[in-house]
Amino acid sequence: MKVVVLGSGIIGTSSAWWLRQDGHEVTVIDRCAGPARETSFANGGQISVSYAEPWANPHAPWRLLQWMMRDDSPLLFRPQADWRQWQWGLSFLRECLPSRLAPNIRAMVAMAEYSRRTLHGMRESLGIQYDQLQRGILTFYRRQSEFETAQRAASLMRDMGVDRRIVSAEEAVAIEPALAPSRHRIVGGDYTADDESGDVHQFTTQLAQRAESAGVDFRFDTRVTRLLAEGGRVWAAEVIEPDGRYTRVLGDAFVVAMGAFSPDVLRPLGVPCPVYPAKGYSATFRILDPARAPEVSLTDSSRKVVVSRLGDRLRLAGTAELSGYSRALNTVRCEALASIAAELFPEGVVDLTTPNYWSGLRPSTPSSVPLVGRSRIGNLFLNTGHGTLGWTMGAGSGRVIADIVAGRRPEPDFPFIGY
Ligand SMILES: Cc1cc2nc3c(=O)[nH]c(=O)nc-3n(C[C@H](O)[C@H](O)[C@H](O)COP(=O)(O)OP(=O)(O)OC[C@H]3O[C@@H](n4cnc5c(N)ncnc54)[C@H](O)[C@@H]3O)c2cc1C
Repeated sequence: MKVVVLGSGIIGTSSAWWLRQDGHEVTVIDRCAGPARETSFANGGQISVSYAEPWANPHAPWRLLQWMMRDDSPLLFRPQADWRQWQWGLSFLRECLPSRLAPNIRAMVAMAEYSRRTLHGMRESLGIQYDQLQRGILTFYRRQSEFETAQRAASLMRDMGVDRRIVSAEEAVAIEPALAPSRHRIVGGDYTADDESGDVHQFTTQLAQRAESAGVDFRFDTRVTRLLAEGGRVWAAEVIEPDGRYTRVLGDAFVVAMGAFSPDVLRPLGVPCPVYPAKGYSATFRILDPARAPEVSLTDSSRKVVVSRLGDRLRLAGTAELSGYSRALNTVRCEALASIAAELFPEGVVDLTTPNYWSGLRPSTPSSVPLVGRSRIGNLFLNTGHGTLGWTMGAGSGRVIADIVAGRRPEPDFPFIGY
């Protein structure tokens, strides 16, 4: 079968790899010059199965209201004259109902856990190196009230089979000695030894190379304008070629993995796709003193910032801005990341003078559960809406979409579309 994958972020590239393993003729189309150039470029690096929690929870609406007016808040909702944003916001509020929390967590953990196992298998069989570290994730709290709430969340996650160990501030520093200078800021933490970190761009780029060698046709600098459907089937993707010509890429099946832009091609066909961009930022610093830089991936829960060591670089990432599709860098938000780096690590650990700032659009669903499965148009498949956890869920999401295209029941217990 000829399968056309739209998008070559972590999700599209992983989908293409697994579809090719099934023997399909696979074409990947992306508007960028190479794979993983948009949201899968410089994210927080965490493979964080044990923190697979939705943004929507019973406390979220109140917190959002408190944060609304602060330019440096970790989650910022900027109302736009865009009905899609309002529709998304209303659905988000519905997902904040107490009854939605457990099913959403269960779905996210199932996919994330399956994905981590799939990633391990791919790493071993393909020998991909991506500055990966299997040192766990340590989340630390600066306020007692947050630490207490976290203990309740940890117990809920334990009920789902996730091993999140509550630790004291002393234990946190013992787990990651690079935090010793910040000991006075920490009231406690939790640690998940099974979690890990690594560079999503390196992984995706190498996976794309392997896929190309295995016969996948990547067509970069090619923009998808729409999908052409007739008689209940999609028969082509209309694209603008690098030389500006409009052409059509024909296929037997189509997988939409265009991240935050997936609704652009789905809505005209009447296929629901409640995905809205949540802009996030990262700042990457050169490590000057490797012995004093952290190896355990960290989450500064009070600041909603993650810290991952990627070889000789240290990356801080965070903040979420629901403000439309612009990727413009907001200076206040960039500098907030740099000042957290300066606060946590003493002078000389990283080079604070030459940060690489970046922003990306998380493809977010109101429930934080991605949209994976078969749409009501039989040969049109969705693999999108991975929000904060596209790297964590990437390897597994690619594998399950290949199962679904092939008509096999995927392994994880997850609310797939069309089942
Ligand atoms: C600041 C930040 C920190 C994050 N940290 C983490 C983390 O620590 N752990 C984690 O698991 N996740 C993290 N994420 C989330 C993760 O990065 C995303 O969920 C993931 O990258 C989404 O991958 P994707 O393939 O769906 O989208 P993308 O990577 O955006 O890929 C979509 C592709 O579609 C292409 N495309 C779009 N429109 C068109 C078109 N019209 N024609 C052709 N091509 C098109 C784009 O060029 C792009 O390459 C973070 C995100 C951000 C922003």
